[in-house]
Amino acid sequence: MALTEFELISRYFWHAGIAFPQSAVVAGIGDDCALLELAPGYQLALSMDTLNEGVHFPADADPYLLGQRCLLVNLSDLAAMGAEPLAFTLSLSLPAVHEAWLDGFSRGLASVAKPNQCSLIGGDTTQGPLSITIQVHGRVPIGQATRRVGAKPGDAVYVTGTLGDAAAALQWMQRSPVFVSAGIDGMDGESGESGESGDSGVNGTDALANSTATFLQQAFYTPQSRIKAGLLLRGLVSSGLDLSDGLASDLQHLLSAGSSPAVSLGAVIDVASLPLSQVFRRHVRTDDQLSLALAGGDDYELCVTVPVIKETVALAALKEAGIRFTRIGVIDSTPGIRLKHRDGTLADLAVHGYQHFQHS
Ligand code: ADP
Ligand code: MG
Repeated sequence: MALTEFELISRYFWHAGIAFPQSAVVAGIGDDCALLELAPGYQLALSMDTLNEGVHFPADADPYLLGQRCLLVNLSDLAAMGAEPLAFTLSLSLPAVHEAWLDGFSRGLASVAKPNQCSLIGGDTTQGPLSITIQVHGRVPIGQATRRVGAKPGDAVYVTGTLGDAAAALQWMQRSPVFVSAGIDGMDGESGESGESGDSGVNGTDALANSTATFLQQAFYTPQSRIKAGLLLRGLVSSGLDLSDGLASDLQHLLSAGSSPAVSLGAVIDVASLPLSQVFRRHVRTDDQLSLALAGGDDYELCVTVPVIKETVALAALKEAGIRFTRIGVIDSTPGIRLKHRDGTLADLAVHGYQHFQHS
């Protein structure tokens, strides 16, 4: 017999693995509203993201990875603002009750919720096409959140982690020729007389080492939680955000947020400094590496601007925490983003990040 809504909630969501005690939570699941109590001197930081099947993830996505991803992309917004996670709510639309799916999904959620101290405090469960909405609640000391506005000419531009890995993973999953399964070296060796290389089989998933496949799966489904980086950088940066649509379009948000008729902001990005993973360098077709690193979405790394006088402290803090933190450019007062190529030439950035509905 199918589970009732109440049974479903209590079996998969109302248990100590996800809905654990949190000092800010006065009342969690089970009442009409959850109650949160903020310590004096703090502001509440809220953010919400929806993931729809077929739009944000494939229909056959592993429910455990999906559970992790849904919460991680929300936590990324808290990280961007330098907020500390407290709790989340979950609105779940399900076509039918599949217990194996719910079990995997709730375990995935729990595996991210617990280490980030973000407890499930309520939600809604309905029948419909598979869609998952999470709202996260965090706290930040009054007036200290990292905002998109605030960059100044002369500030350095930094990113955490590496760029383009999730975009590379997507190319891999879609078996696109941009992703070279045999590796760039292998492909060089194979490029014979034939003008057609599309059907050479190098895009099959079988050829990939397990460690590479795992790396790519993680890059797409389970971006690193940058909560710690966000907390460490709070107060050291002049502006910041998380990269969801690709560096090219997200960096533009920092430039426009800070500009006004009186002040215009631009940036010069040093191509040689862009942090790329080994897997990315080895498997993304050389000609496509730059556009994937700049315009590929779903990185969920932080991009911040750092005043020169704070750079040393910021670098030391992230180094001590073991978080890769790379200076990729500088803010100036010429509108737009320019790329400084390896030969020293400057070129206006022509690629843009993925934007929903851009072709509609
Ligand atoms: P109401 O009818 O008052 O809105 P519901 O019957 O929808 O309440 O939900 C009962 C309780 O279960 C509420 O506390 C609600 O927040 C919680 N809840 C419902 N769906 C979920 C879910 N998917 N995850 C977590 N909590 C949920
Ligand atoms: Mg009610």
